[in-house]
Amino acid sequence: MGMLKQTALSVLSSGPVYSALRSKALRHNPTLVLCYHTLGPDTDVMDAWTVVRASDFRQQVAFLRKHFDIVSLDQALDPADPASRPRAVITFDDGDIGLFTHLMPIVEAEALPVTLYIATAQIESGQPYWFDRIMNALQNPIRSTISIDTGGPKTWHVGPETGVARWMVISDILETLKRVPPALRVALTLEILQQAGPVQSRFTPLAPLSADQLRTLAQSPHITIGAHSHCHNLLDQIPLEEAAYSIRTSRRLLQDWTNQPINHFAYPNGNHNPDLHDAVKQAGFASATVLGSKLCDPLRTNPYAIPRVLVGRYDSLARLRLRFIGQ
Ligand SMILES: [Zn+2]
Repeated sequence: MGMLKQTALSVLSSGPVYSALRSKALRHNPTLVLCYHTLGPDTDVMDAWTVVRASDFRQQVAFLRKHFDIVSLDQALDPADPASRPRAVITFDDGDIGLFTHLMPIVEAEALPVTLYIATAQIESGQPYWFDRIMNALQNPIRSTISIDTGGPKTWHVGPETGVARWMVISDILETLKRVPPALRVALTLEILQQAGPVQSRFTPLAPLSADQLRTLAQSPHITIGAHSHCHNLLDQIPLEEAAYSIRTSRRLLQDWTNQPINHFAYPNGNHNPDLHDAVKQAGFASATVLGSKLCDPLRTNPYAIPRVLVGRYDSLARLRLRFIGQ
């Protein structure tokens, strides 16, 4: 980040300017719905935007508690319980094992309400989705060269640097693969895994929860389980029937596994459209969340397109203090 940008960020995110911005943003008691993915150990050298260090998460929660009531998604959506203070709802997408090993102890110790949107194919198969397999494979300390053909040749050099510089390259590979049809994506993922070679660095790999771990999480009074599709494909880019099947299947499997009603849905990658809103409603869900970087009044928003604000590994608390007030 440039010096000027850094200075602007520190002025805006603290002191009287920040207090004024915050009072204005929070004056009508809006709700901030946050989208995380998973937590990891503080010490891992692991470049995945989706893995927030556990100590960073604790700091973020401490900041949120000062200015927001952290409530469950059901409380935020209850018309009989309108907000009398700004509220925050904390959600996690996908169903990584870090939810069990790192998030659950924090949830229990702090009585922290969270919603976990679980994508079910990976729980059923025990195999991570393609994007998690690629993130795991590209953590090697040496430089890896990845060359694939997506209708034209593309080459990336990953590493040896770590941190945000490595992540930017990994992210570009993932964004490229998101845009190709699912069948080609499977083939390209295998090529990338082969080119990256065996995983040589020591870190906690991304891996799905087991069904037992999921059940344990579901039994916590602070945890709401929601669904995040079965296939985790971008649902607006596959046939509607296939998307509707994936939405229904995730609800049915989660209800079987947890023995609880599953009422809330999150679209993979936040991709949504009116047909998908209908499909989610017809599958029996009461709400669905998207990505939108803004605060909202959940009682006056389309319940099948509730905006969420993203939080990732490389977001500093200074940056998040602004994002949490919709800036
Ligand atoms: Zn997801």
